Amino acid sequence: MELESKLQILADSAKYDASCASGGSTRSSEPGGLGDVRPMGICHSYTPDGRCVSLLRILLTNYCIYDCLYCVNRISSDVPRARFTVREVVDLTLAFYRRNYIEGLFLSSGIFGSPDATMEQLVAVARTLREEHRFRGYIHLKVIPGASPELLAEAGRHADRLSANIELPTATELTTLAPEKNRGSIESTMAVIDAEREAHAETPARFAPAGQTTQMIVGAGDSSDADILLTSNQLYARHRLKRVYYSAFSPIPHADARLPFERPPLVREHRLYQADWLVRRYGFSIDELTTAEEPNLDLTRDPKLVWALRHRELFPIDVNAAPRELLLRIPGLGYRNVDRILDIRRVHRLATADLVRLRVAWNRMKAFVIVADHHPAVRVLDGAALAQTAAPAARQLALFDAEQSAHSGQL
Ligand code: SF4
Repeated sequence: MELESKLQILADSAKYDASCASGGSTRSSEPGGLGDVRPMGICHSYTPDGRCVSLLRILLTNYCIYDCLYCVNRISSDVPRARFTVREVVDLTLAFYRRNYIEGLFLSSGIFGSPDATMEQLVAVARTLREEHRFRGYIHLKVIPGASPELLAEAGRHADRLSANIELPTATELTTLAPEKNRGSIESTMAVIDAEREAHAETPARFAPAGQTTQMIVGAGDSSDADILLTSNQLYARHRLKRVYYSAFSPIPHADARLPFERPPLVREHRLYQADWLVRRYGFSIDELTTAEEPNLDLTRDPKLVWALRHRELFPIDVNAAPRELLLRIPGLGYRNVDRILDIRRVHRLATADLVRLRVAWNRMKAFVIVADHHPAVRVLDGAALAQTAAPAARQLALFDAEQSAHSGQL
């Protein structure tokens, strides 16, 4: 098979991974237009210092001996198959890098033979790039759960980031939809990576310096947002993950009847990223954001606003006097601006103009705060209309990528 045909198949098969912020887009050139986009595997991702990098995102192969029901590459799927050799992936990466198309490689694979046989090939690509070609670009390797600790250790010596997908939010969903996988094996793999990172604590540049992440598919089963956030929280705590990526289930051709016919609303991913961020950065607990009666996040409003509307008795909060942990609870005020406010108020009392200069989401927060020249009437805070006036316009949400907006510091 021609290399370009392999690239077409194996880049297309890789686009379901959420750890890249873009990709899978197609736009043909047209007379008088400039440029085109083809589904040939270039995606974007974020480094730990916030830089956006272009990556060649491909699978080594889309052959797979497993039969995960939600996956287009499962053994029972009738998609066209292809497999790169190690040398082909290395050459493609170098060629794209030299032409300035990419700054790195994001390599995953279906499982052929065994986890170790697959992992050996993934590691061989990274080793060849680093040792034979002294490649200094970014490498993200997916690791195969159940691969040997020695291979995982070598993977981390060559890659900037490693990720083992947790796949589904609960062990029950995993058993039903991915029968060959189990939570224990996935978490053991994460634990090996975490232990290696710990062993390199003094020399973090030598082992997966960008840490480990995972991906969870949302909406393939009936797990609630509370279940999803609980699993994420456990993973962050046990394995010190850099991030859990939420990926809305994509319907696939000839799908099993146990799968939903439709993709869940994309805004669900967005709300999960926001809630995840509120737990990790803003001091919220999961049971403040979801309840036994409402285990799913409100799709129409951000979770911090929903919490504030449920706890109106705590507002308005005096921006010039409240401690950091209370400032973090104000809708529309991000953690970066909270720190700026704490700096400014050492010098003078803040007024509305100071907050506007900080580009806070003033319309969202004005009912919830007191500043030197602003004191909202109690009737505004108690009014039934507050839920609507404080919610951002739906169009505004659509402008932002789900993950980026959670990072925008405007929660
Ligand atoms: S192991 Fe990965 S590639 Fe194979 S069927 Fe499952 S999700 Fe798809």
